[in-house]
Amino acid sequence: MARGAFGQGEFGKLTIEDVDIKGKRVFIRVDFNVPLDENMMITDDRRVRSALPTINYAIDEGAKVVLASHMGRPEGRPDPRWSLAPVARRLQRLLNKEVLFSHDIYGKPVKDMVAKMRPGDVLLLENLRFDPGEEAGDPKFAEELASLADIYVNDAFGAAHRKHASIVGIPRSITAVAGFLLRKEVGYLQGVVSNPVRPFTAILGGAKVSGKIGVLENLIDKVDKVIVGGGMAFTFIKAMGYEVGDSLVENEMLELAEKIRGSLIRNNVKFYLPVDCVIAQSIEPQAETKLVTTQEIPRGWKALDIGPASVKLFSEALANAKTVIWNGPMGVFEIDAFSRGTFSIAHAVADAYALTIVGGGDTDLAVSRAGVSDSISFISTGGGASLQLLEGKELPGIAALRDKK
Ligand code: AMP
Repeated sequence: MARGAFGQGEFGKLTIEDVDIKGKRVFIRVDFNVPLDENMMITDDRRVRSALPTINYAIDEGAKVVLASHMGRPEGRPDPRWSLAPVARRLQRLLNKEVLFSHDIYGKPVKDMVAKMRPGDVLLLENLRFDPGEEAGDPKFAEELASLADIYVNDAFGAAHRKHASIVGIPRSITAVAGFLLRKEVGYLQGVVSNPVRPFTAILGGAKVSGKIGVLENLIDKVDKVIVGGGMAFTFIKAMGYEVGDSLVENEMLELAEKIRGSLIRNNVKFYLPVDCVIAQSIEPQAETKLVTTQEIPRGWKALDIGPASVKLFSEALANAKTVIWNGPMGVFEIDAFSRGTFSIAHAVADAYALTIVGGGDTDLAVSRAGVSDSISFISTGGGASLQLLEGKELPGIAALRDKK
């Protein structure tokens, strides 16, 4: 059950509200990295909608609003498959006002467009990654972008962990502050880790232990319960001395997995692993499946979802939680036959009377497919960025912004 407003954690950076933007050219770095289908139609515009509070605020304050984002991986050259033109059209509908679109990212044509803008006008630049300078963090490219504006606002939480030109480069030249989405994301993710309402339960899943090890290490002395599902569970189970058939195992992580389990137990953290699982010989929709206990996975078979006994165990562990963070699916939920565990946990998280925070990427897709997005307190728009915050690291994009005095 989603709870109301959560007191945002300490945010030591200036925000767009702290600077005078009236009549100024304001460059807002947004994260419009939305999924498109084969007809270039946007299949999920949540990232665009999440940026609306900052954009609308800038419009209402009479700023000349220059928006910029990356999308996909065009590898430093223009590629029509990754054009932001469809996003400009969607934004126009969402804002109910004209959105200018520039095919150039910098240079005289853009400068001329910006020079003609009036207060309240909105311009979206083409995909920043069409230029190799963006991902390389090229200072010259950053200066070109900075020359389009008087003030820089970072509202691209999903990209704030990258040392790219539009994230860390522009703030070297002009006043740089945070947008509302960035402040909200950091407030939730940092706030929950530094000052959780207890009991605090973390659910981790997904393919690999290596991707989540930093989060586990950071949470050891902060959480009350840890639930591990998905492929990563099988490295822990193997490390405890059990056979796991052909399930996903990172052999190089076995020792560390066992060490972390030991540290959690020494810290009185309750640690839950799946007790049963759905197995198959291949990761295919038509594959024959069986339900077995985790100690009975035969050779040649892989565990691809948690089973009903694990769902029950995990749901009971969640029942009294007051704070829950969830990052990573419980199985290969993209395939129906292996999706039930993930969707059941999505419902259990949604039903918990707790502050519930879901990490980005696959987990938000799982929650949306389970139809419970509206019952989650906060769904992060950034996968990699949210993981880094949960690892206790500062994001370069946030470090680059002006400190509050
Ligand atoms: P991650 O990006 O590490 O959160 O991993 C997400 C991916 O993990 C999803 O695409 C799932 O299909 C995959 N996954 C979850 N459980 C398993 C499993 N038991 N075996 C293999 N892959 C899995």
